[in-house]
Amino acid sequence: MMKEAAQTQNTATDIQTDSPAVGYAFDRSEFWRSIPAWRDIDAETFGNFRWQQQNSITSVPGIQEVLQGLATPTLIADIEDGLLKTPMNVRLTPYIFSRINWGNVEDDPVRRQFLPLGSQFIPDHPHAMDDSLNEDGHKATPYLTHRYPDKALFLPLTLCPVYCSFCTRSRMVGGSTAVKSKSTYGAKTNEWDATFEYIRNNSQLEDIVISGGDALLLRPSQIHQIGTTLLEIPTIRRIRFATKGIAIMPMKFTSDTEWVEALAEVCRMGRDRMKEVAMHTHFNTDREITAWTSRAMKALSETGVRVRNQSVLVSGVNDSFDCLHRTAKKLSSQLIQPYYIYLHDMVPGCEHLRTTVRTAEQLSRRLQGSIAGFNTPRVVCDAPGGGGKREISSYSLYDQEIGVSAWTSPTAKPGEIFYYYDPIHRLPNEGQALWANEPEINRRLAKFKAEAMAKAEATRI
Ligand SMILES: *Cc1c(COP(=O)(O)O)cnc(C)c1O
Ligand code: SF4
Repeated sequence: MMKEAAQTQNTATDIQTDSPAVGYAFDRSEFWRSIPAWRDIDAETFGNFRWQQQNSITSVPGIQEVLQGLATPTLIADIEDGLLKTPMNVRLTPYIFSRINWGNVEDDPVRRQFLPLGSQFIPDHPHAMDDSLNEDGHKATPYLTHRYPDKALFLPLTLCPVYCSFCTRSRMVGGSTAVKSKSTYGAKTNEWDATFEYIRNNSQLEDIVISGGDALLLRPSQIHQIGTTLLEIPTIRRIRFATKGIAIMPMKFTSDTEWVEALAEVCRMGRDRMKEVAMHTHFNTDREITAWTSRAMKALSETGVRVRNQSVLVSGVNDSFDCLHRTAKKLSSQLIQPYYIYLHDMVPGCEHLRTTVRTAEQLSRRLQGSIAGFNTPRVVCDAPGGGGKREISSYSLYDQEIGVSAWTSPTAKPGEIFYYYDPIHRLPNEGQALWANEPEINRRLAKFKAEAMAKAEATRI
């Protein structure tokens, strides 16, 4: 496969696609050669995960070094300004860095996800929270969040191969920034025993999500250790490794044979015990899908792992039906099942990337029926405060003018009400004016909450 790519002698602008009969156009060109510093990098080098790791971009000088003349002083100043405002580190693999259209960088949907521009920031919503989903409040062990009855979230590390500006765990993922100090941790195998013990002792747990951070940065021995330890617990039926890897470093799965073999072994063990081993990845647009994705999925398919995708709805990135639909179709064609589209969480430092419940709901309505039901992503709001994932149309009350919605969660949190707030700059003018007037908005919110409580009381079963 690598040979086939190496033989393609396209210039970066000459995008060769699959035959139209296939119906899906995947970029097979050597697109990275449009980045001045990588003009002479061949497909074999580009396709090596170690080269991708070693050449990841993590700083402004790093950006200047690879972009050379493509980086205007205005752009560099804007990025420098962005780095003073973001809670996230900057890290882009060469793969994802060269998916950015540097000719139109301001509006580029890939750039917008990973490289903050100071000029695009707006103030946080007054109700934004560091730990919007209250994951820390549901901690059963230092590494395990147990919110739902039969499933839990294991966070063995807080490092990722790329950093997303909109990360829901910006309070802990990646290193500290100018505005946010964090205690990051790497994978420490000798500290997980209490977590495994808790899972063993809580037989209602059937399903473990291994996230972070990103499972891509777990060593093969750790994939093996976590996978086999969990699958050996009789009451565990399903495990999933969460990694953005397929979207941002697909060559990991064709060039790190040891890692893939460790996963394959975990899959074999799962198959022997009739247990599901899955990988949940994170594509947000079809720009992230190329011929490298197909190669990665071919290799992963051979392990028998089931692959699903979870997107975040990000304003200016994928908040259109066409983008979501195209992405869902293309992912499905590569055996990646679209699973969730999350309404952006209410975390600080990324207000410009959020959109409204109303927009998400409209997109969800259009997606339904546009593709096979099992490949139709469910649009959800992860209710702030720890209500868990809720179908986007399942709010109990929604005031679109001031952008507040009320959610109940009878299984995860019976009797409680959770509130999500739309970004103020997206509200109608009347709503924006109300938020500018503190006594007025407080009155209106109190009224809304009283109605939501009355409604919850009336519908309680
Ligand atoms: C998302 C999540 C899960 C898994 O939920 P699914 O709906 O099965 O994908 C488990 N625990 C926590 C805390 C979560 O946030
Ligand atoms: S890959 Fe996931 S955990 Fe890592 S920064 Fe992005 S959203 Fe956060």
